[in-house]
Amino acid sequence: MKKTYVGSCHCGAVRYEADVDLSQGTYKCNCSICTKARLWHAIIGPEDFRLLAGESSLSEYQFHTKQLHHLFCKHCGVHSFGWGDDADLGKFYTIKVNCLDDVDLDELLRSPITYVNKRDNDFKKPPAEVRHL
Ligand SMILES: [Zn+2]
Repeated sequence: MKKTYVGSCHCGAVRYEADVDLSQGTYKCNCSICTKARLWHAIIGPEDFRLLAGESSLSEYQFHTKQLHHLFCKHCGVHSFGWGDDADLGKFYTIKVNCLDDVDLDELLRSPITYVNKRDNDFKKPPAEVRHL
């Protein structure tokens, strides 16, 4: 069942509401940016995301195919969410679940994690090593 959470960056300039069903699973990925920033994602539709504050505090980073818009707070540097547009999914938001301020930790830890091997573009099986993600 979807619940509404409030997410934010570290300094609080960026705040949003997100309707997320954590029981549907979360994602960790071994691509270069997810590895370096240890990003832990939940994917939601645009109808489930509302930016409350901080649009002018957001900076955007893109690389490689530039399919994903990696947003981060230009004051504190935290990636609290991003978005993308995909032929299969349409527009989507990727919520960094560690930035959800009011999430229950036990509930978050019960969320099944799918590990994605984007580094090798092998989406059929998880990466051989995931402990560092
Ligand atoms: Zn911030």
